Amino acid sequence: MKLVSRSEWGAARPTGSYIPVSSTKGVKIHYEGSAVPGALASDHSRCAGHVRDIQASHMANRDEGWIDIAYSFVVCPHGYVHEGRGLHHKNGANGNGPLNAGHYAVCAMVGTSGITSPTDDMLNGLVDAIEYCRSEGGAGSEVRGHRDGYATDCPGDDLYAWIQQGAPRPSGSGAAPAPVPPSGPSAAPPFPGRILRLAEPMMRGSDVRTAQARLIERTWNVGPDGADGWYGEHTRSTVVAFQQDSTANGWPLDDDGEIGPLTWAALWDRPVTR
Ligand SMILES: [Zn+2]
Ligand SMILES: [Zn+2]
Repeated sequence: MKLVSRSEWGAARPTGSYIPVSSTKGVKIHYEGSAVPGALASDHSRCAGHVRDIQASHMANRDEGWIDIAYSFVVCPHGYVHEGRGLHHKNGANGNGPLNAGHYAVCAMVGTSGITSPTDDMLNGLVDAIEYCRSEGGAGSEVRGHRDGYATDCPGDDLYAWIQQGAPRPSGSGAAPAPVPPSGPSAAPPFPGRILRLAEPMMRGSDVRTAQARLIERTWNVGPDGADGWYGEHTRSTVVAFQQDSTANGWPLDDDGEIGPLTWAALWDRPVTR
C-alpha cells in the first residue's frame, strides 16, 4: 500500500480529541461530490495540496463543527492512500454518530466535474485502504456506500456500482493474497480446556499464542507484539473482526470476541475468503 502519512501531506493538527473506536463493521466509500480538478489526474505532486484543501474546507465548516478532515482516508487517482483521521478513530463523514462509529470512511478523489470516475490505480488504492482497515483497524468485512443508510448521492453511480460488484481489484492488477487452505476434515489442534477471552487478570499461555499465530497466518493483525501469548484488547478486537467476517462469509459465529470451541474450529477449518 502506498500510504501517505499526515505529516507527509502536511496535515493541520486537529482542533479536538478523536473518539476511539476499537472495531467497526467495515468501510463506507465516499466521493467528494464537488469539482475535482482534472489536472490532478496527470500530476500526483498536486494531490497532497488537494487533501490539505479538503481538510481546510472541513475544518471551516461551522455547521458540522469538524475537528479535522472528516474522512478516515483519502485515495488519489494514483492509488496513494492519504491518512485522514486514520485507524481506531471515529470519523465524521458517514452522516451521524452511530454511522460514523459503525464504519470507517474512505473517500476517493472523484467528483461531479473534472475527475468524475475512478481510475484503476484509485480502485486498487481503495482496496488497499479497505484491507488496511481490516488488518490493522479492526474493521469487519462490510464494504458499503455512503448512501447505504443515509440519504445522499455519495459515492456517485460509478463507485456505487463497483461496491455492488464486491469492490474488486481491477482485472489484471494486484493479485489477491494466496488463500490458506484448510487441510483434512479438521485441521484444528485440540480445543484448549478454557475459553480464551479478555479477562482480569489477563489470560496468558501457549493456547493464546497458538490462536494468535493462526490469526496472523490468516493475515489478521493481532497487534504490535504479534503472537505474544497475552489475550489483550488488540487480540479481542481482532477476534471480533474475524467472527464478523466469518458470519459474513457463511460461517456464523457470535461476535463476542471470545475464542470458544466454534471460533477455535473456524480459525483452522473455515476456508479463507479474504
Ligand atoms: Zn460521502
Ligand atoms: Zn495522487
